Amino acid sequence: DTVSEKPDIGSRILVFVRLRPMGKKEREAGSRYCVQTVNRRDVYLTDFANEHDYLRLKRLRGRHFSFDGSFPDSATQQEVYSTTTVKLVEAVLQGRNGSVFCYGATGAGKTYTMLGTVESPGVMVLAIKDIFNKVRQRSFDGNHLIHLSYLEVYNETVKDLLSPGRPLVLREDKQVIALLQKGNQNRMTEPTRANETSSRSHAILQVVVEYRVKDASNNIVNRVGKLSLIDLAGSERALATDQRNLRSLEGANINRSLLALSNCINALVEGKKHIPYRNSKLTQLLKDSLGGACNTIMIANISPSNLSFGETQNTLHWADRAK
Ligand code: ADP
Ligand code: MG
Repeated sequence: DTVSEKPDIGSRILVFVRLRPMGKKEREAGSRYCVQTVNRRDVYLTDFANEHDYLRLKRLRGRHFSFDGSFPDSATQQEVYSTTTVKLVEAVLQGRNGSVFCYGATGAGKTYTMLGTVESPGVMVLAIKDIFNKVRQRSFDGNHLIHLSYLEVYNETVKDLLSPGRPLVLREDKQVIALLQKGNQNRMTEPTRANETSSRSHAILQVVVEYRVKDASNNIVNRVGKLSLIDLAGSERALATDQRNLRSLEGANINRSLLALSNCINALVEGKKHIPYRNSKLTQLLKDSLGGACNTIMIANISPSNLSFGETQNTLHWADRAK
């Protein structure tokens, strides 16, 4: 069992898988479910490509994975938020850092999980609302200051999606979804290549909470906690070229940030001393929020359809290595 192998929970990466519902287009294309979540922990993947094995052996080939949690396609946004992110928000309100990533192929449900819709707001919105509620409920007045930045990393260039040049001070949580949706639209400034752009860009929301508190010897001290919520670029390209050497990766204009993140995560998981944060813009931005004393959560998003079997398999293998 992973938990007992790695008792150092503080630096371990918690890995969750979220299965999205079958989409209309997938249904119309006659696709079938090739993924099942069981017991809120396990994921079964079935390989329909080997269907003749089934006829012969009466058994479908497939694979079983086990994670810190698995969400069925009926899981609500609130459930995903409270299982993955609530504890990080509490840590941030104690002056620590933490990060939550959504990883997966384009169309697998990353943006739905992170941003969501007006009717079903996602992790970014629920986290900000939760931070405001918890600050309001505090028994002390710490002069709380909550500010955020919403950045995009595209082609190793960082762009501010909301307020270029300065962090945005948030005074209330009411209009957060509208604000973030507006920011998200700025991810798609090249209309002709809108899909292409959004699937290759990373969106990074960083919420900083600063406050004052009295320490044990009655001195007033400043505390700062930072929550980073990241809607990663589509993983399909990175995975397709995973096996090639570095030069051909550059040639193929592969997503350097996604690859660098994978390398940092592997180094963290292996307990290495040197973590190569400097290899990309994304990992530079996140170096104080990934590993070490930080808490890192990974949500791997997958489609249920057999038409996405290959991508789902890649995502599950990647997530399995991040545990
Ligand atoms: P990605 O950001 O990974 O490319 P999206 O989040 O845009 O994928 O999801 C693709 C489509 O599936 C969108 O239309 C989205 O609304 C829908 N979708 C994704 N996850 C869910 C879910 N859990 N429940 C309902 N619809 C979902
Ligand atoms: Mg998206």
